[in-house]
Amino acid sequence: MERTLGIIKPNATKKNVTGKIIAMWEDAGLRVVGLKRTWLTPAQAEGFYAEHLGKPFFGNLVEFMTSGPVVLAALEGEDAIQGNRRLMGATNPAEAAEGTIRKLYADSFTENAVHGSDSPASAEREINFFFNVFELI
Ligand code: ADP
Ligand code: MG
Repeated sequence: MERTLGIIKPNATKKNVTGKIIAMWEDAGLRVVGLKRTWLTPAQAEGFYAEHLGKPFFGNLVEFMTSGPVVLAALEGEDAIQGNRRLMGATNPAEAAEGTIRKLYADSFTENAVHGSDSPASAEREINFFFNVFELI
């Protein structure tokens, strides 16, 4: 069993597809073991995306991620990290495969509907960034 962090980004909560995205996670064999809807502060978004600090898209990314509510989900399953990455589709939605979350719900490179951890180390950091141990059941 493995855990990963999924985020339903502001463009997707605005479209009211939170339930549809959670259903896609569940249908792919992932279990929601932690869940919260919140509105990120700039400090939270900058800290979460610290690895991208200094990149040309960083400012737009933080602005977008703080533009509306997000849904944070700790997801558990076999091969959860890579399984969720496949389900999400490519970062650039123009390259996302049919049937992926980003193909269905992304609006642009930045507004690409979902986040998913990309490695075990990232998953652990990202889950602990938003959830405490009592919130993961
Ligand atoms: P992923 O979310 O697929 O792991 P990255 O970690 O590389 O992708 O980037 C984090 C987020 O930053 C992306 O999901 C996207 O919202 C945004 N982003 C990344 N690269 C670009 C880019 N070239 N132009 C605009 N936005 C970008
Ligand atoms: Mg990433």
